[in-house]
Amino acid sequence: MRILVLGGTTEASILARLLVDDARFDATLSLAGRTASPKPQPIATRVGGFGGPAGLADWLANERIEAVIDATHPFAARISANAVEACRRVGLPLVSVVRPAWQAVAGDDWRDVGSADAAALALGPAPRRVFLGVGRQELHPFAAAPQHHYVARVIDLPGDERLPPDIRLVQARGPFERAAERALLATERIDIVVTKNSGGSATFAKVEAARDLGLPVIMVARPHKPTGHVVASPEDALGLLAEGRAPSRRGV
Ligand code: NAP
Repeated sequence: MRILVLGGTTEASILARLLVDDARFDATLSLAGRTASPKPQPIATRVGGFGGPAGLADWLANERIEAVIDATHPFAARISANAVEACRRVGLPLVSVVRPAWQAVAGDDWRDVGSADAAALALGPAPRRVFLGVGRQELHPFAAAPQHHYVARVIDLPGDERLPPDIRLVQARGPFERAAERALLATERIDIVVTKNSGGSATFAKVEAARDLGLPVIMVARPHKPTGHVVASPEDALGLLAEGRAPSRRGV
């Protein structure tokens, strides 16, 4: 079966590792091209946008793709909407790997907000030392709250995005460990953490570290993300397709 995996996540990397030795599938992984040097992958990989739902539908038809797995990030809502529309047009099954959101436990001080703009506002007027674990693309809203000192972790350094004036960029790629995250927050004398509710284990350590240190967390809620047939793991996605249990999307 010829499949397309929409990736850029830990789940997509797991799928690539599973697919390389799986004779049932002939798979291509697609990356948006946001990171300058993405992790090497063991299966055929293409990079860059398709040109909206119509471009994706054309690509799927030209490549004679028979099913799509959407393993993109919970905050990547546009590509998922495009995948739903393109699979509907071409009449292909679409399986979406959806990670559960992180949940607060007793004692956590989480403040839920709907966007990075709202997170910047929620930091309040008094200057604070803020850890930003929101990704490079979401740093610019914090320029609207220039009174704070920011420590932001990024995979690639920002280009010409507008940044807050007092910001230190720490370049690193996950997964991250709890003890190291705790040490980073303590060394930087951070008093509040901002993160997206990405779910998964690769970037959860900063939230655990905030928990350990009794720090508040501003948690940016997930956007609405259209899906196909939802599964919880890469293994389930392949199982579903192999058993032919993922319905075609035409006309849905
Ligand atoms: P997005 O807003 O949903 O998508 C914007 C556009 O980028 C899409 O319309 C599409 O362009 C292109 N695109 C996105 N993912 C693609 C993929 N896997 N393959 C080919 N084209 C893709 O996406 P985003 O939030 O910018 O995320 C971009 C990538 O980074 C995704 O692969 C996502 O899994 C990964 N990622 C995102 C986050 C995050 O917080 N947003 C975090 C970690 C990883 P066309 O319309 O031209 O096809």
